[in-house]
Amino acid sequence: MIIVMGNEITDAQIDAVVKRIEAAGLKANISRGIERTVIGAIGDERKLSAEMFTPLPGVESAMHIAKQYKIVSRESHKQNTIVEIGGIPLGGEQIQVIAGPCSVETQDQMDLAAKFTHEAGCRMMRGGAFKPRTSPYAFQGHGVEGLVMFRKAAAKYKLPIVTELMDARQLDTFMEYDVDAIQIGTRNMQNFDLLKAVGKVNKPVILKRGMSATISEWLMSAEYIAAGGNHNIIFCERGIRTFETAYRNVLDVTAIAVLKKETHLPVIVDPSHAGGKAWMVPALSQAAIAAGADGLLVEMHPSPCDAWCDADQALTPEELKKMMGTLGAIAGAIGRTV
Ligand code: PEP
Ligand code: MN
Repeated sequence: MIIVMGNEITDAQIDAVVKRIEAAGLKANISRGIERTVIGAIGDERKLSAEMFTPLPGVESAMHIAKQYKIVSRESHKQNTIVEIGGIPLGGEQIQVIAGPCSVETQDQMDLAAKFTHEAGCRMMRGGAFKPRTSPYAFQGHGVEGLVMFRKAAAKYKLPIVTELMDARQLDTFMEYDVDAIQIGTRNMQNFDLLKAVGKVNKPVILKRGMSATISEWLMSAEYIAAGGNHNIIFCERGIRTFETAYRNVLDVTAIAVLKKETHLPVIVDPSHAGGKAWMVPALSQAAIAAGADGLLVEMHPSPCDAWCDADQALTPEELKKMMGTLGAIAGAIGRTV
C-alpha cells in the first residue's frame, strides 16, 4: 500500500502515518519528493485498508498498488508528470529534443555544438564527460575538465546540460557543477547502488534502458530512484539487443506505448544509439514522436567524421536542423508541439 501526502506536510503528520503502519506490523519507506511525499507500507498489506489512513491530517490518498513498482506506476498517480530540466518542461504538450555530441572533446567542439543545438531549435544539450566505453583503451572522457567545457559552452545559449554519471563518487562533483539532468547509461541501469545514490539528490535523472532489460526490470530500477525520494525520473529507450545485426540495436517503439500506460513519468527516445547510423536517426525520431515519446536524445557533432566516439551515428548540424523541421507536423497530428 502507498500513502500519498500533500506537499506542505509536517514531520508529525508523517510520523502518525508511520506509527499506524508499524502498529499493523509492517515497515514504512518514506520517499520525500518535491511535489509529494509517498509513504510505502512494506509487509503483509492485507492488514491495511485505505480508511486507516485517509482521515489522518496531511494524507491525500491511500491505495493498494498491485504492481511491484509503486511510486512510478500510473496506478499511484493518474496524470502525466512533468519533469523540469533547468526550467524546461519535459512530459507536457511540448516535445523536447536534447542534442549534442556523444562526448565532450574540446572547447571549440563544444562551443560549436552548443551553437548548432540552439540554432536547430533544441532547448537542451547532451555531452558525455565520463564515458562508458567497451574497450579500456578507447577515449574514456575528459572527466571533470569535460564538465567545465560543457558548462561554459552551454551557458552562452542558456542550454540546460545532460551528462552521464557512472560512479556514485562523482555525484558531489555533478552537484557542484550543477548538471541539469543526470544520465544513467544502459550499462548501469541495474547498478543499484548508483540508483540509490541518485535517488537521494534533487536532480532529474534520465534512466536509459539496459540493453537487454525487460520493461518491468526498467520500471523497478526507476522505483529504486523514486524510493529514495527523487521522483524526477525520465525513461529513455535507446534500443535493445536482438538477433539482428543490420543495425546497432532495435528501437523498441512498443516500449513507448507500454511505458506511457504503466508510468506517469516522461519517456524519451535515443534514436542514435538505437540505429547506430546517422541516416536512420530521422526515421526513428519521427516514429518515436508518432508513438508518443515526450522527447528525443540525439547525437549531433559539428563534424561527425572527426568525432572521437560514435562518429557513424552523429548527425551533422544541417541534418539536425532538417530533422527538427520534420517533427512539428508529426507532433501536431497528435496534438503536441516541438
Ligand atoms: C550515450 O548516451 O552516450 C551512451 C553511452 O548511451 P547508452 O548508455 O545508451 O549506450
Ligand atoms: Mn554515444
